[in-house]
Amino acid sequence: MQRLDEFMGQALTAYYNNRDPLGVDGDFTTAPEISQLFGEIIGIWAVQQWIKLGSPSKFNLIEIGPGRGTLMVDLLRGTAHVTAFKNAMKIHLVETSEKLAAKQKEALSNHDVQWHDHLSTISSEIPSIIIANEFFDALPVRQFKYNGNEWLEHYIDGDKSAWQSIDNPPLKSNLPTPQNGDIFEYSETQEDYLTILSIYHGASLIIDYGYTKSAYGDTVQALYKHTPCPITDNIGDADLTSHIDFEWMSSYFENGVIKTQSDFLAQNGIALRYHQLNNPSLLSGYDRLINPSQMGELFKVLEILNLKS
Ligand code: SAH
Repeated sequence: MQRLDEFMGQALTAYYNNRDPLGVDGDFTTAPEISQLFGEIIGIWAVQQWIKLGSPSKFNLIEIGPGRGTLMVDLLRGTAHVTAFKNAMKIHLVETSEKLAAKQKEALSNHDVQWHDHLSTISSEIPSIIIANEFFDALPVRQFKYNGNEWLEHYIDGDKSAWQSIDNPPLKSNLPTPQNGDIFEYSETQEDYLTILSIYHGASLIIDYGYTKSAYGDTVQALYKHTPCPITDNIGDADLTSHIDFEWMSSYFENGVIKTQSDFLAQNGIALRYHQLNNPSLLSGYDRLINPSQMGELFKVLEILNLKS
């Protein structure tokens, strides 16, 4: 019998180590794979943060969970004309999958890049601009269910769920009084990452599918070849994710701002960039990124500016 987060951790390690899961032939598609505009607009955001930080002559440009490296390639191409920004950056990618790191090496072969297994090995002595797109949703979570007079924790026993009594679940302070059957999720791995992120002087951008107010709900899901399946099917071959609690996540920072992906992209000039490129083949991707019925409102952005040194 395994606790849900242990089960997810093992399944996800096997999953990411054995494949490139992105794209039509894989299990899911992400914003950078949908349109070059995504990485380009994040590049515009990054240059603005660098200016807010006082245009430092050295800074870390860090991406956590970079997939195929597409976002970084688009960001670097889109900002290549900002010479002082380009010359000041040290590029770091945090990636645990060797398979995807190899793809990233290929995509970024013209750039000087350092790879890491964890954010904590990157120096926080110089300012950092940190980007994580669909990274947090790929980390294991625990689940707790209220059964009327006590809390139970979700375990996986063979191919079944087994809920076991627990005395002190890590309750989130902003959740309302639970009703019978309410489930909440909590991730120690996410928390570790947030605690480390809060140490870095600079700016961070976290983008994920999620909700803006802490709430009850079972959001853990498995996706196999673009189709949902039970989490105990296709173990190690299906992608496992959860939705992100942005309110809880922003509580780790003094001045986090939460907005929709569509607002973030609009504020950073996606319409202007789209018209400037004047290429009709970019229309469907542009629409998918910002349309409220597509990714525009389901995906949220947490922007953090930490000017303390
Ligand atoms: N950001 C990319 C890929 C998202 S998929 C995009 O938007 O296309 C999740 C990414 O996080 C993959 O690159 C995966 O290998 C990586 N990843 C998953 N768990 C990780 C962990 N614990 N540490 C570092 N990277 C991880």
